Amino acid sequence: MSSNGNKIELPGSIVVRDLAQIIEKSPIDLIKKLMSNGVMATINQSVDFDTAAIVVAEYGFEAIPEVIVEEVIETGEVPLWRQVIADENESDLKTRPPVVTILGHVDHGKTSLLDAIRETDVATGEAGGITQHIGAYQVEMKGRLITFLDTPGHAAFTQMRARGAQGADIVILVVAADDGVMPQTKEAIAHAKAARVPIIVALNKIDKANANPELVKKQLAEQELVPDEWEGDTMVVPVSAKNKQGIDDLLEGILLVADNTDIRANPQGEVIGTVIEAELDKSKGVMATLLIQSGTLEIGNVVVAGTAHGKLRALTDYKGNPIKKAGPSMPVAVMGLNEVPSAGDVFRVVESEKEARVIVSERADEAKAQSQTKRKTTLEDLFENVQLGETKELNLIVKADVQGSLEPIVSELNKLGQGEITIKIIYTETGNISDNDIMLASASNAILIGFNVQADVSARRLAEKEGVDIRLYEIIYRMTEDIEKALKGMLDPVVKEKILGRAQVLAVFSASKFGRVAGCKVTDGELRRNAKAKLYRGTDLVYEGDMGSLRHEKEDVKEIRQGFECGVGFKSFKDIQVGDQLICYVLEES
Ligand code: GDP
Repeated sequence: MSSNGNKIELPGSIVVRDLAQIIEKSPIDLIKKLMSNGVMATINQSVDFDTAAIVVAEYGFEAIPEVIVEEVIETGEVPLWRQVIADENESDLKTRPPVVTILGHVDHGKTSLLDAIRETDVATGEAGGITQHIGAYQVEMKGRLITFLDTPGHAAFTQMRARGAQGADIVILVVAADDGVMPQTKEAIAHAKAARVPIIVALNKIDKANANPELVKKQLAEQELVPDEWEGDTMVVPVSAKNKQGIDDLLEGILLVADNTDIRANPQGEVIGTVIEAELDKSKGVMATLLIQSGTLEIGNVVVAGTAHGKLRALTDYKGNPIKKAGPSMPVAVMGLNEVPSAGDVFRVVESEKEARVIVSERADEAKAQSQTKRKTTLEDLFENVQLGETKELNLIVKADVQGSLEPIVSELNKLGQGEITIKIIYTETGNISDNDIMLASASNAILIGFNVQADVSARRLAEKEGVDIRLYEIIYRMTEDIEKALKGMLDPVVKEKILGRAQVLAVFSASKFGRVAGCKVTDGELRRNAKAKLYRGTDLVYEGDMGSLRHEKEDVKEIRQGFECGVGFKSFKDIQVGDQLICYVLEES
């Protein structure tokens, strides 16, 4: 990363703090700018090149992509799944479909080409052309399958590489015939070479009047990709993603390269692969796309991916068809993990849920040990931090119901910050506590003070994840008292809500004893009968109190886990509605 006049070189993705440093602006200012562009990122999170370019343009800089060829080529580690395959018996290895990823400079047609390939596939056409976007898909050519990674190309490939789990067997390098080799083309070449993955060039946009294929071939040769028609060993296939020209040639080219590459795995062997993408679906829970690289994944398998684990309840192929098992090179959408894994995480199948929990708890301990070095501020440990000399400044973000309350609060708070520690109010606003506030608090290591306001569900979740302390008050002196005590190290331990699980209300039934019962599905964690409950309708809290009854298939149960359906009734609340979200929690002293 470097700055030269108004032009700055930026990598494919950059951490917000580093970006702020390059343009010499405060990170908070930058985070606000990102927010005004609809991007939520904390100081430690990365933004991609395109986002960074838009934001720095607002500060008067022109971003150009950085090329870090040497850095990329240095690391030559073998991905874990390749090691697993290498350890198998030679006689057990069977040819598997090649896994292909498409890289190239922005706007050279990666997305268009992926769409064109998907659309020309006969097998997909038979299903009415409606396919699910799960981050990967397969096409058939001459009775053979090819797997395409359909993730936003570059970023995903880099991420997967960085985790030593790079998944592709072949890289298609898209180069626009009217634009030629560009910085990200060079970066892509470097990545593919570092991963020792063969490259096929798709010379795209040959339909354009100003296309100059010969010039591009010359540029490619300069990058040591000498076209085969020039006696080199790089296949260069002219295509037009727009007119769907040359697509079959490209697919045939892939098969040809695959035949010359060792693309095998043991379908009966150890199951290993990579998480392609994952998300939390409101009704289905955690959905993840896994690419199987060796072995065969089956319903009922217990999977560990990063710190996520679970017994697989359902597998679906990229067309959305339910399947029972999936072999090597097959992408598959799965349900059953307890949390959202990260793209690029390696997944493996283990013997039992017990073993999975052991592995995950070891990994969680490691992660915790790492995060403890970057401890966040809470009001409880403020005094301790002051004593240790770690804190000299207390950053606060204040949210209040009306403008009229903000002023007295700010003036009261400002009075407190005298002595060893200064109080800095970095942001004030009216309205409920939102995700944006949490992001800002996390970025600036601030405590969030809410006066007569609520924190909505997603903000609470985010606060938990980011370790942001939210303090809600209804009376000004309670708030000032708390902060004064905290400054003196006299704050009583507070009782905190520990969330056990969440469920979605899918139906509402009438029952004699409880009047109305919510038919729920547990989306994460678990529900416990003797715990507390909150019911949210959108962002509104509609009920807070005890869980009344908890039933699974007409049986009273003490607890119910993620993925299961259950009936929940509240003694003193009947107005349950479909779509409500239930949070089950216990109170704990911190
Ligand atoms: P990406 O950034 O590499 O994913 O590029 P896109 O697939 O989004 O394509 C960038 C632009 O180039 C879009 O406006 C496409 O319509 C256009 N484009 C892509 N392929 C072709 C092609 O073969 N011919 C022509 N004329 N335009 C194309």
